[in-house]
Parts: sequence; structure tokens; C-alpha cells
Amino acid sequence: MLTSTPTRPAHRAFRVSVKRVQRLSPSFVRITFHGDDLVDFGDEGLDQRIKIVLPTEATGYDSFPTSDDWYGEWRQLPDHERNSFRTYTARRIRRAEREVDVDFVSHGDTGPASAWANHAGVGDDMMLIGPDGTSGWTGSGIEWKPAGAATTLLAGDETAVPAISAILEQLPDDARGCAFLEVPTAADILDLTKPAGVDVHWLARDEASYGAPLIDAVRDWTSRYLTATHHGKPIDSATLADVDVDHDILWEVPQGRDLTGEFYAWLAGEAQAIKTLRRFLVSEVGIDRSQVAFMGYWRVGKAEM
Ligand SMILES: Cc1cc2nc3c(=O)[nH]c(=O)nc-3n(C[C@H](O)[C@H](O)[C@H](O)COP(=O)(O)OP(=O)(O)OC[C@H]3O[C@@H](n4cnc5c(N)ncnc54)[C@H](O)[C@@H]3O)c2cc1C
Repeated sequence: MLTSTPTRPAHRAFRVSVKRVQRLSPSFVRITFHGDDLVDFGDEGLDQRIKIVLPTEATGYDSFPTSDDWYGEWRQLPDHERNSFRTYTARRIRRAEREVDVDFVSHGDTGPASAWANHAGVGDDMMLIGPDGTSGWTGSGIEWKPAGAATTLLAGDETAVPAISAILEQLPDDARGCAFLEVPTAADILDLTKPAGVDVHWLARDEASYGAPLIDAVRDWTSRYLTATHHGKPIDSATLADVDVDHDILWEVPQGRDLTGEFYAWLAGEAQAIKTLRRFLVSEVGIDRSQVAFMGYWRVGKAEM
């Protein structure tokens, strides 16, 4: 519990280099980063959001500002010196070894982050923007907030597999619920650790469209397992403000109302698919929005900005 507001930012830049590259499956490549100052990297885990900073052709990382106001200074840089970012999950944090693993979805060389991961080699430089464990802030960049819920639902596509896997690993032994993970093919199913009371279902997408297997599975599970005690009155779909996923970010996360004995869902992946699930759970089933975290992690045809 904070007694006063910390004066330093919750996140900062960490200079790292590639220590290991491990091809986990056709679609996943795990990069282990090492850097001496990772000893200060916040290690709360769960769905810890980080940024990877891509090197510029002109200056690499030389012009990247490292002051407390790095973001403000970064915005002022001329285009050719301004590094671009992409958002990822810290799959595992080993502070004592000064290591962080990031599991990259390999979607060809169509995006700079995927291309970087596909060609990464031991010793390559990287910069991560991550939680500063010495800042005094806690919980920054973590959206998993079940707040005592009795039953939890986790659903996501391959981009959310690292976050869901990390969350499952940290759940208490008596946790109950279900997790659905949609991956490109059955060859992308990974080992994970989870409590006995949480059922995990891997869904191979194969030729289906992004999110289709996930949407079917969540609909089916909801109709079979989610009893009337877990949800309320369906809301009129006209009152649910829609998000234009081609222009706005689909990101709605509850901020920790006490959910003791209730239901909590955490959904992340391709934005249009997550939007469909949002309408289904909130509008059709009537689950209160304070019980569901919805996050568009990426959008077909749109680069992250
Ligand atoms: C909080 C958060 C956590 C995330 N964690 C992870 C993670 O741990 N691992 C991970 O791999 N991703 C993760 N993502 C998703 C990742 O940020 C996006 O996939 C990002 O767009 C990848 O950047 P890029 O440079 O490869 O492609 P971009 O330059 O952003 O996009 C270029 C093109 O590639 C397409 N594209 C982007 N991602 C995919 C994909 N996965 N499959 C197919 N086409 C794609 C875009 O639609 C676009 O047409 C996370 C996103 C968020 C918001």
C-alpha cells in the first residue's frame, strides 16, 4: 500500500541484449533478454505490459532519451531519430538472473517487431520500456484484476497466449474457471502450468478467420456453465457504445470492484473478435462491465501506432 504518491514514473527504459533465441513452435519465438539493470525490473508478472523499442536505421538507440521524461523528449525527436515501439508481455521475469523472456508471435516480416524477432541473434541490442521496481508504483501495466471472483474466464488468441500463460502460472491452487487459447495451428500448442480447477482449451484456427474459434467456444461455454447467479439483465445493445476498432483502441478494463463470489472475465486478442465477444457478454448475456476486461491487442490490417 502506498503511503504517498511516488515521484518517479512507474516505467523506464532498460538497455538489454539478446541472450537466447528459442523457436517454441511455428508461430512463437521466445527471446530471452539480459541486462544488468534488469535487477530493478518490476517482477509482479501476470499480464505485465511492456514496450519493445525498435532501433532506428540512422541512430540505433543512441538518440533515445533515458530521462524521467523520456516520453516527452522522444516526442520531440526528428522522425529519423524517433524509435518506434510495439507492445508485448513480459512472459517471465527473473530479476536475480537479470533476464526477461518475451514470446513473440511470428507473423512473417510484415511488421517491424515480428521481423526483428524472426531475425534476432544472440548479442543483438534491444531496449525495453518496463516497470521500474524501485519507483514505488505497483500494478502499473497489469490489467488482470479478478478481485476475489469465484469463477474466471480467460480467452485470447496467440498474442494473448504469453499473458494468459503467465496469469495461469500465478493463480492460487484453489482457483476455478476456464481458459481458451486460439492459436494458428495445433503445432502451436505450448506447455503451461495451471491450477487443477481451471480447464484449459487450445483452439487451432487453421483455415478459420481470426477469432472465429474463440467466439464459438466462449458462446458455448457461457451457455453451459455460466448460471443466472453470475450475470444480470441483458442491456439494450443500443446503449452499449460501440468502438470503431479501425480508429479507436478497444480497451475497457474494470478497476477492481470487490467481486468476491462473482464471475470475472479477461479477454484479449484481435480487436474485431474481442469487440464481438464484448457485445455478446455484456449485451446478450448481461454481464456487468465491471466484471470484464476487454483488450484489443492488435487489429487485422493495421500497424500498432
Ligand atoms: C498489452 C499487449 C500485450 C501484447 N503482448 C504480446 C505478446 O506477448 N506477444 C505478441 O506476439 N504480441 C503481443 N501483443 C500484440 C502485438 O503488440 C501486435 O501483434 C503488434 O502489432 C506486433 O507488431 P509488429 O511490428 O509485428 O506489426 P505491426 O507493424 O503492428 O503490424 C503490421 C501488420 O501486421 C499485422 N499483425 C500484427 N500482429 C499480428 C499477428 N499477431 N498476427 C498476424 N498479423 C499481425 C497487422 O494487422 C498489420 O497489418 C500485445 C499487445 C498488447 C496491446
